[in-house]
Amino acid sequence: MARITLEHIRHAYSEKAKAAGDYALKEVHHEWEDGGAYALLGPSGCGKTTLLNIISGLLTPSDGRILFDGKDVTQLSTEERNIAQVFQFPVVYDTMTVFDNLAFPLRNRKVPEAEVKKRVNEILEMTDLAGMAKRRAQRLTADQKQKISLGRGLVRANVNAILFDEPLTVIDPHMKWVLRSQLKRLHRQSRFTMVYVTHDQTEALTFADKVIVMHDGQIVQIGTPAELFERPSHTFVGYFIGSPGMNIMPAAIDGATARVGDQSIALSAVPALKGQGRIELGIRPEFIKLGREGMPVTINKVEDIGRQKIVRASFCGQPISIVVPEDDEIPADPRVTFEKQAIGIFSDSWRAMNE
Ligand code: ATP
Repeated sequence: MARITLEHIRHAYSEKAKAAGDYALKEVHHEWEDGGAYALLGPSGCGKTTLLNIISGLLTPSDGRILFDGKDVTQLSTEERNIAQVFQFPVVYDTMTVFDNLAFPLRNRKVPEAEVKKRVNEILEMTDLAGMAKRRAQRLTADQKQKISLGRGLVRANVNAILFDEPLTVIDPHMKWVLRSQLKRLHRQSRFTMVYVTHDQTEALTFADKVIVMHDGQIVQIGTPAELFERPSHTFVGYFIGSPGMNIMPAAIDGATARVGDQSIALSAVPALKGQGRIELGIRPEFIKLGREGMPVTINKVEDIGRQKIVRASFCGQPISIVVPEDDEIPADPRVTFEKQAIGIFSDSWRAMNE
């Protein structure tokens, strides 16, 4: 297991892109703890796979260094870095049995056969493939083949880190849930440093102790699931995490009051404003109370999602979402109040000002 340090990493995929300043990774500078379970979360194209491949050694960054436990590994291969990587689509040897596929990384490293048997049997149990150990991989479904890939990533006991690139994409929804909780348990037992790439917030929030949110080639926030939900440091994080995401509205600050359109919203404290920038107010749909008191809203649509309703409304001309319990009546003259403590204030650089 290793502490992973990323020092001023930038990456452009060609000299032409570099000359044009078109970087897939703009500046990544962070240290990830030894034994942590990290998720790299962000929308398609934000640079997650690029960063993962730079950590594994499949890609050499245009600038910057990668260190494992303080040792520079930037120029080393994946093999030399002692990394296991699991990809989105299965990589298996079709002519080998399931058992031999799983044993391959161990036999390749001359692990004694008794130990191979023990480890492979554990992985067979974990991935629900125990009944198929003797079957040739070519006879399996894509879903089963991906479980072999996952198992191969997990089978070695002494890797520096295990990297997963959207590994559950081809797995059916029920098994996805099972494997995710098994991965989490395995992490607790083994304390491998694990990095898990996904664009699915549920996957990231359930798997990881720390979620690394990426946007446009940069890391915008690293935090626990609760921190990202309660204290997003960036409007992008507020909007991307949560379902629906945070409501973001332009506002003007006057002491401990925010003005949105012709309405005044009380804040919990006077924010320390720097300069004259544009201010954005952020409030999660769960912290807006819909009732007969407060400021007027116009309701456009109500979506019933089982135990809750999502109300899509307009507040001072701004579209907002409100989450209400399923049994709550929607009043004829609807009004809203905002929970003071839950209001985020973001400056013109999109950074939170009241962290
Ligand atoms: P996805 O979830 O879709 O895989 P991602 O967040 O993993 O997205 P990357 O695949 O790292 O993002 O891509 C980051 C940027 O780099 C994108 O603009 C992408 O088009 C570009 N890119 C990725 N691979 C290459 C490549 N081999 N050559 C040129 N550009 C690339």
